[in-house]
Amino acid sequence: MHELSIASSLVEGVLAFVDRHRVSKVLAVRLAVGELTCVETEQLRFCYTAVTRETAIATATLEIDQVEALVRCSHCAYEGSPKYWDDALSGTAVPTLQCPECGRAAEPTQGHECLIKGIRYVP
Ligand SMILES: [Zn+2]
Repeated sequence: MHELSIASSLVEGVLAFVDRHRVSKVLAVRLAVGELTCVETEQLRFCYTAVTRETAIATATLEIDQVEALVRCSHCAYEGSPKYWDDALSGTAVPTLQCPECGRAAEPTQGHECLIKGIRYVP
């Protein structure tokens, strides 16, 4: 499962931080999850809870920030939100890597990341 491996590596990162800085208690972990990662935040939350169980950060609050997708088109110099298509199954708009102006392939400039944005802790 996609979300489980992401949760594991994020938690590893937090635990490494805790180790390195000799943190006594982690209060909250804030994650940034890009729209283009196709990560289900509820799934991620579930996996995170499973992975952190019985670790030093089990009681920390998990905050997830959704990062909006942005693209840049090298064909027509468009910059901004990508083209979305409506997913009939889930009823949500899914971002594509397509330029809304000229319809050609665009490069993501934001929204493809999944990382630890911040850790709130008691030193
Ligand atoms: Zn374009």
